[in-house]
Amino acid sequence: MLKHSLGRLKRIQFSWHTLKNFTSSSSCSTTVPKERVDCVVIGAGVVGIAVARELALRGRDVLIVESAPTFGTATSSRNSEVIHAGIYYPPNSLKATFCVRGRELLYKYCSERNIPHKQIGKLIVATRPSEVPKLNHLMNRGIQNGVAGLKMVEGSEAMRMEPELQCIRALLSPVSGILDTHSLMLSLVGEAEDNGATFSYNTTVIGGHLNENSMCLNIFETKCLENWNSRFPSQPDMVLIPKLVVNSAGLSAPVLAKRFEGLHSSFVPPSYYARGCYFTLSSTGIPPFKHLIYPIPEEGGLGVHVTLDLDGQLKFGPDVEWIDGVDDISSFLNKFEYSVCSKRVELFCPEIRKYYPNLKDGSLQPGYSGIRPKLSGPQQSPTDFLIQGEDIHGIAGLVNLFGIESPGLTSSMAIAEYIATKFL
Ligand SMILES: Cc1cc2nc3c(=O)[nH]c(=O)nc-3n(C[C@H](O)[C@H](O)[C@H](O)COP(=O)(O)OP(=O)(O)OC[C@H]3O[C@@H](n4cnc5c(N)ncnc54)[C@H](O)[C@@H]3O)c2cc1C
Repeated sequence: MLKHSLGRLKRIQFSWHTLKNFTSSSSCSTTVPKERVDCVVIGAGVVGIAVARELALRGRDVLIVESAPTFGTATSSRNSEVIHAGIYYPPNSLKATFCVRGRELLYKYCSERNIPHKQIGKLIVATRPSEVPKLNHLMNRGIQNGVAGLKMVEGSEAMRMEPELQCIRALLSPVSGILDTHSLMLSLVGEAEDNGATFSYNTTVIGGHLNENSMCLNIFETKCLENWNSRFPSQPDMVLIPKLVVNSAGLSAPVLAKRFEGLHSSFVPPSYYARGCYFTLSSTGIPPFKHLIYPIPEEGGLGVHVTLDLDGQLKFGPDVEWIDGVDDISSFLNKFEYSVCSKRVELFCPEIRKYYPNLKDGSLQPGYSGIRPKLSGPQQSPTDFLIQGEDIHGIAGLVNLFGIESPGLTSSMAIAEYIATKFL
């Protein structure tokens, strides 16, 4: 049935083009085809892909609908690529549970599939006496969350491990690491496809409606939306009627859920966006650090930290800059502002010099940025991942994933496991 509907989807797109050439009409088709499918995952970021793979491995017929021309072009390719230990999050929160479980699954998966990764360890550093209690608090939290191997070390010991570092005390987390996210996603996509899942790129879900308590999805070819002039086309290219829908649209997940007619607005949390920019260190031969170096977390993020990639390239970031959202369609098409203003370096340098005093002027180059899909705004308490199924909102077969910010990459396989176990 799935193969049939995809063939149909392609034909619809073809007929839409033909129709457009004929009529120059902005409408996508006159009669809207409807297809029943088993599972639809909206969004091919690392979480959506992991969910699709897990559902496919469990024998379900899965269609992944992705607005971009390929997988992983949004937040999943704009992050620190760190495998987090699970230290920062309140005990028993979804973030803590999924991070710890996801880390175990991720290391095992990467080792078995030869996906480039390295357990390089991390030092969270206190650079002032006032930060030491916070470090103790983090250590206690990590222990409560079941993170193994945490060790508090004096500044002198930390600086012996990392001669360029300056700190008065540090928390060593040996289980933290780095990975090649693209290779991970490629592997998960391949495995999902090998188990029958189909990826439909350039395909955007713009909303949905209820039919007999099931969510029907309104689908557009992405191109149809690219010159959108704030008036929605009157009809979608196709309506999909899945038994299970997983809304894994990242930054757009709440915006999209608001467009699901029949889902009460009280179930859709507010969206906030916190951009994080990175600056790379000009290559000077040997990188100054071997471990990940993190300051004490700041509001909205983990602080401007040191991350190494697997080639030894060192980057600093991400900072936290609260930004406004974009209109719904621009959000679905990932038209957020990602450019990195070179002037931000003035904000980075003093933060970095607190733990890396030898940072040379002019050695940082603008890198890239990512945007955190936040559910709480400036000066508000941090929130947990929010995963809502029928038990919460009452709509059969609809699962919304909201606020999948860090440690979403680390948690991806655990989120997939949870969804397949709870909602199939
Ligand atoms: C600066 C930064 C640093 C981070 N560092 C780390 C880290 O070191 N370790 C860690 O564990 N986590 C980290 N994270 C978090 C991690 O990157 C995310 O949690 C994870 O990538 C989220 O994946 P996702 O699949 O939910 O979302 P995304 O990767 O954003 O994927 C969502 C997909 O949905 C598609 N889409 C959107 N709307 C529609 C629609 N209407 N129709 C069809 N498709 C649609 C998008 O095109 C996109 O491909 C970081 C995040 C940021 C912002």
